[in-house]
Amino acid sequence: MDIEQFRKAGYQAIDRICDYYYSLNEQSVISKVEPGYLREHIPLAAPEKGEDMQVIADDYQKYIIPGLTHWQHPKFFAYFPTAGSFESIIADLYASSVSNPGFNWSCSPACTELEVIVMDWAAKLLGLSPDFYNSSGVGGGCIQTTASDSVLVAVVAARSLYQRNYPDTKMEDLVIYTTTQTHSLGAKAALILGLQVKTLEVTAEDRFALRGEGLRSALQEDERGGRKPFILIATVGTTSSGAVDNIPEIREVVKDYPSLWVHIDAAWAGVALSCDEYRKELYLDEINSFANSFCTNFHKWGLVNFDCSTLWVRDRKHLTDALDITPPFLRTKHGDAGTVIDFRNWHLALGRRFRSLKMWFVFRGFGAEGFREYIRRCIRLNEIFVGLIEQSNTLSLVTQPSLALTVFRVSPMPESSNQAALSTQSLNELNRLFFGRLSSKTDIMLTQTTLNGTFCVRLAVGSAHTTEKHVHEAFALVSEEAKIALELWKQ
Ligand code: PLP
Repeated sequence: MDIEQFRKAGYQAIDRICDYYYSLNEQSVISKVEPGYLREHIPLAAPEKGEDMQVIADDYQKYIIPGLTHWQHPKFFAYFPTAGSFESIIADLYASSVSNPGFNWSCSPACTELEVIVMDWAAKLLGLSPDFYNSSGVGGGCIQTTASDSVLVAVVAARSLYQRNYPDTKMEDLVIYTTTQTHSLGAKAALILGLQVKTLEVTAEDRFALRGEGLRSALQEDERGGRKPFILIATVGTTSSGAVDNIPEIREVVKDYPSLWVHIDAAWAGVALSCDEYRKELYLDEINSFANSFCTNFHKWGLVNFDCSTLWVRDRKHLTDALDITPPFLRTKHGDAGTVIDFRNWHLALGRRFRSLKMWFVFRGFGAEGFREYIRRCIRLNEIFVGLIEQSNTLSLVTQPSLALTVFRVSPMPESSNQAALSTQSLNELNRLFFGRLSSKTDIMLTQTTLNGTFCVRLAVGSAHTTEKHVHEAFALVSEEAKIALELWKQ
């Protein structure tokens, strides 16, 4: 393909992307294809001779789009969103056009310098302490691929710090602290690094948040057993229910355990810190006062297309002490002089995408005001859904809604059945039936979860294209399916 052919194909691609977005509302959210569908359309090996771009682009429309689940669809309410934006797509196109691995400052000074700056913009937008700013020269932030990578980086840094402080520590004694509500990234980090993980119990009464008391007794027990807890992964906005660990209580406990690194995983909820009114409930002041590291994903609820996970640390030296390996071929004049940041020492891989461009375009395109308005709109839409659930005869909230997330289930009216006498198992069966029916629909997508044995359904608002109408349609569908599930269950 030459430059002029690229120009033509590029214009067509943008046209088709616009048509895709225009038609999104009419598409089903979930792909209707069966497993293995692509095999009959795509040869078993790459072609020997290059093909015409028009044929390739047409095949994308014909074979790939039908196999997509449309995460930007206004009725995509599953998992957590990966809300993208046109600003971000354009930036990604430019980033892709220079295909730059940006691992050292000298690879492309703009890649590093823009990241240094926009990470400070993001920190300011979220109200993070200046201790985390790159401009502090001590703390700092850099973009990782995912929250799972961010946690892995934090665990590696925390382990290395602990081992430097306590050189006689045996690897097998080191423990990562999580709760039953921590995303599986905690267990995965332990698996990858060959470390023990401790999973602390949390209760429905505490709205699935880790409390100080539970943390303290676990630490005391491990102290007695000679184990070495070295990092706690606390969550602000858990995946199942949006629970927020009790950061003030955690702060009180860790005052007595200064060698415990506290990483805050706010992969989803962290972007809501951009709005003043949520800072208190998300414990921003406390996070700012003591957390060692903080992560949120702008690729989830932050309008930046996947992937873009932002990680800040209070002391960048802990990253570089753990991750800096500089063979001769990576040495540079500025790196040797220590006058620049080489981000390869702040994450796991060597090469890295030019992701700061997406953040820059999004922050400038929306402005802080537009960004906050989007977050507030999602929360308002969720509140509408919550209001409808609260008025429903068949549906009820399982736990208090969190920001733009509602966890609910079918619950028979007390007068129509003796609800108190119904076992958890029986209600779970009803709700499995309910969710089974919901997930067979292709025009909406929600996800299931279990909270301390209670099977429930999650609805998360986040697509930039969702409106009130879509929320009402979602409610109409879930209440209709709830009625049918109840009838079937009673038989
Ligand atoms: N942490 C929380 C609270 C999440 O909800 C999720 C995903 O939904 C993750 C971490 C994992 O994110 P990632 O896919 O970026 O690793």
